[in-house]
Amino acid sequence: MSVPDTQVVVVGGGQAGLAAGYYLRRQGLDFVILDAQATPGGAWQHTWNSLHLFSPAAYSALPGRLMPPQVGEEYPDAEHVVSYLRDYEKRYDLPIERPVRVAGVHRDGELLRVQTDSGTWRAQAVISATGTWWRPFLPAVPGRAAFGGEQLHTVEYRNPGDFAGRRVIVVGGGNSGAQIAADLAYDTELTWATQRPPRFLADDIDGRALFDAATARRRALDAGRTDTGGVASLGDIVAVPPVREARDAGLLKASPMFVRLDRDGVVWADGTRAPADVVIWCTGFRPTLSHLAPLGLRGPRGHIPTADTRALAEPRLHLLGYGDWTGPASATLIGVGRPARDAAREIAGLLRA
Ligand code: FAD
Repeated sequence: MSVPDTQVVVVGGGQAGLAAGYYLRRQGLDFVILDAQATPGGAWQHTWNSLHLFSPAAYSALPGRLMPPQVGEEYPDAEHVVSYLRDYEKRYDLPIERPVRVAGVHRDGELLRVQTDSGTWRAQAVISATGTWWRPFLPAVPGRAAFGGEQLHTVEYRNPGDFAGRRVIVVGGGNSGAQIAADLAYDTELTWATQRPPRFLADDIDGRALFDAATARRRALDAGRTDTGGVASLGDIVAVPPVREARDAGLLKASPMFVRLDRDGVVWADGTRAPADVVIWCTGFRPTLSHLAPLGLRGPRGHIPTADTRALAEPRLHLLGYGDWTGPASATLIGVGRPARDAAREIAGLLRA
């Protein structure tokens, strides 16, 4: 066999990549983490200013190290998460190369060749942990191109001051939509459009309960019992304090989804119109997988078929942190540890076989 540069390449150095590194080290494997960002923190470096976690610090930890509480905040803000991740990678001395963007992962005989914008790595296995933030999803609503105002996605929104006094349409009934609508409710002329009436979780439910629900669902499915419905059975929107305040002040009233846009605004099925200056699409994300295209693994809905984290058609590749399809609650800080541990363990088994 030709000699690899390292045993495992981890693509992505956000929380999922770091959790992978923690367990690869414990397995005694040689590895490198390649991250496209110039600085630590993954997507948390780019979120809107008022974003806070939907769980307390104690329920937002990666393996091995608790997140310290943030003084004066029950739910830490994104900056606190970035500093936690920065400390985490330093504490465990994780071998991270930045900024390095992986362009493609290719089969190369018994190895996988990882082509980057600064050289090539050849490895026996790859863990892809590139998140979803980098692939915003925009629905195909008629007239989108005709709209004369400004359009942006969640990933571009920073703070309400940028939109003061303007007529803003926020689209989306998930957590991002609710939080951004709450942020804008005081200083803009806001319309919040959602596909179905917003489903707020009970005020005393936060990310802890979501994690418990995802875990209970996985246990039920593993044991062959009835699907509990997981997180979706509880509701869509965590009533974090700013959302609760705006809702209780009567400022978070949702309209049904409009059917099209025109030059001046949005139009509902019954012909009602709302003129608008800005439309903010809080309509979600898709997994960032284009670097895996050379492997030809894509299945239905753009996902790569997996057994837990392992790609079914390429056992040297694991996918980590993209959502429940790569492990229950794996797209959360507290949830990514377990699938990371299992992926590292499986890779160690494969390389020792
Ligand atoms: P990312 O943080 O996106 O990290 C991936 C890294 O890979 C990035 O640094 C990226 O630059 C890099 N990368 C991408 N492509 C390449 C490439 N080709 N080559 C090299 N590097 C690459 N979770 C919680 O636990 N609690 C919360 O309260 C919470 N709130 C959230 C709020 C919002 C608005 C969103 C969107 C998510 C939230 N999440 C929350 C979910 C999740 O924790 C975050 O999305 C988190 O950032 C996911 O981490 P990750 O490591 O999977 O991806």
